[in-house]
Amino acid sequence: EPQIVWLRRDLRITDHPAFAAAAQAGPVIAVYVLDDDTPGDHKMGGASRWWLHHSLSALQKDLGRHNSKLILRRGTAAEELARLAGETGAKTVHAIRHYEPWWRKAQGALKDSLDLQLHDGNYLLPPGTVKTGSGNPYKIYTPFKNAMFEAIDSFDILPEPSLSAPESWPNSDDLAAWDLLPAKPDWAGGMREFWGARHGTAAAMAQFEDYLDIVSEYDEKRNLPSIEGTSRMSPHLHFGEVSPRMLWDAMSRYTSEGATIYRQELVWRDYAQNVICQYPSYGVEPYREGYGENFWRNPNRSDDIQQELEAWQRGQTGYPIVDAGMRELYSTGWMHNRVRMIAASFLIKHLMINWTHGERWFWDTLVDADYASNATNWQWVSGTGVDSNMFVRIMAPLSQSEKFDAGDYIRKWIPELAELSDPYVHDPEEHGCKPANYPPKIIGHKEARERALETYRANKD
Ligand code: FAD
Repeated sequence: EPQIVWLRRDLRITDHPAFAAAAQAGPVIAVYVLDDDTPGDHKMGGASRWWLHHSLSALQKDLGRHNSKLILRRGTAAEELARLAGETGAKTVHAIRHYEPWWRKAQGALKDSLDLQLHDGNYLLPPGTVKTGSGNPYKIYTPFKNAMFEAIDSFDILPEPSLSAPESWPNSDDLAAWDLLPAKPDWAGGMREFWGARHGTAAAMAQFEDYLDIVSEYDEKRNLPSIEGTSRMSPHLHFGEVSPRMLWDAMSRYTSEGATIYRQELVWRDYAQNVICQYPSYGVEPYREGYGENFWRNPNRSDDIQQELEAWQRGQTGYPIVDAGMRELYSTGWMHNRVRMIAASFLIKHLMINWTHGERWFWDTLVDADYASNATNWQWVSGTGVDSNMFVRIMAPLSQSEKFDAGDYIRKWIPELAELSDPYVHDPEEHGCKPANYPPKIIGHKEARERALETYRANKD
């Protein structure tokens, strides 16, 4: 009897326990359902859809090597899976477990109607595996990380299973007809240039192997946006082209401090899932009290504030490091982590706009947009999270820019400033050399800082 493998953010064959279990049980029918209903407000954004297209296309080729196929369907996952089971006579659906609140709900409901076999496979360890002394899940990163390092020895990576084909193949949509790629205007040129043909498991692993040559320098280079000092694995991990276990395993020969710090970053990804498993609405609501709508300047209530939000989105704030980051994001679907922190802090503390607006923008523009990682990081920066920076710790974008040597980065992403040398490029307005075509600062740093602190104090009283 054929076995259905239901794929979501796990677009690979290697180290895929659902594929492995299905292949043992019978002929395999792998299906991806493009579902814009179940996620509700977190329907996949534009940049993610672009990535998804290429990722699905790579998986089609990988399955082709096994004389197998990827069946594409569009609609509500529950309905499409039931339909496919009816058409093929399959009774069992295998899938990797996902933890976004909408998937948890859907998985629960599906179990009532189908034989849904869920497998763990997209995280180092399933959320909830490591627990505090009192048996609860961790809330704070550092003890969580220590417990994860204690718990993990090594991983057995599942090889690609051998797949047998069903007697006949069900119908599939045509990937091109899903229109995941932009038509006109074609905004994806920057993404094509930045990411090249790096999609799918083999390309991602090859890229990672190259990266391992410099992982010993990770600690030193990961904060410098001008250079390629991080692995850029985030979209591959988000879409599950690779599992974090595969990366951890590929690093087993590496013992440098850089390699350990890299592993700690992979643990951040697990930590973020661990947080949303405990607080499913973490992506839409502050964890801490006192940071509701009234605390913030609301773009929906004022045209001026809306314009400030748009200036931030378009990289027109007059703060070069923030603008370079936001332009990098819009062009490539990715932004350097240090700059993500600076740009996020700017929206939240300099403009006093609720982090949820930033989360939404990132959701639509990042190729690695991830419910858990996005929310956990936004809440960390804003000081509203379960484990977070304090609201009153306000990043100074201009000194951050100098400290992390962002001159070349700014010159690359802001053509208006391409001719300015260091230190002028970090703050052309202050140095009296701001070109006319680059905007003035949307608000002075000192003024913004005082406003944020004043709002905080007033809110406490
Ligand atoms: P590397 O430095 O090479 O790290 C390796 C991997 O570790 C990453 O691919 C990622 O999977 C994981 N990782 C590293 N840092 C973090 C972190 N802080 N939190 C969670 N996982 C981490 N990351 C996302 O994957 N999706 C998001 O939607 C996302 N939104 C963010 C929003 C804000 C405001 C901030 C400050 C950070 C966000 N991050 C998000 C985390 C981080 O910026 C990216 O994971 C990282 O920049 C990806 O680049 P890389 O693969 O080169 O990272």
